[in-house]
Amino acid sequence: MAKNPTPRTYQWCDTCRRSYDHADAPAGRCPVCGSGTREMGKLAALARGFMANELSSSDLRTKHRQLVRLIWTRNGMGERYYRVIAPDLPYNKFEARVTDLLCQGAEEGWVRFVLPAAPSNDEAAYTLEFADEDRFVRELEANFAPAVPEG
Ligand SMILES: [Zn+2]
Repeated sequence: MAKNPTPRTYQWCDTCRRSYDHADAPAGRCPVCGSGTREMGKLAALARGFMANELSSSDLRTKHRQLVRLIWTRNGMGERYYRVIAPDLPYNKFEARVTDLLCQGAEEGWVRFVLPAAPSNDEAAYTLEFADEDRFVRELEANFAPAVPEG
């Protein structure tokens, strides 16, 4: 089969702020919103995609969650919480549930993750702050009761 050299350009939709292959945007029309698209070089389309946050947000979400997990478990804190709370589940499940809980807390504003401006070797620069510590304790109790000891 003869190779059909495809042009290294893409069709960019200003309305949807994303790029399409030529085949996906027949007659230069956006397949999603029907607007006219502009032909654009690969790099320009890619750069605009970056700016429009087009690329792999789910991958970023996964990495963000990993970062949350690494922050709250560092210096053996994960193990310490596990020992104190003594929940009736294996450590890795406990870790995942507390990570979810803290992500929820960050979304709701009762916990805050503080990151250095740029990646750093100083682990202490990555911290978590509780805007409402009581809330965290209540959430732990609600999630892992009745194992949480009183006082
Ligand atoms: Zn569009």
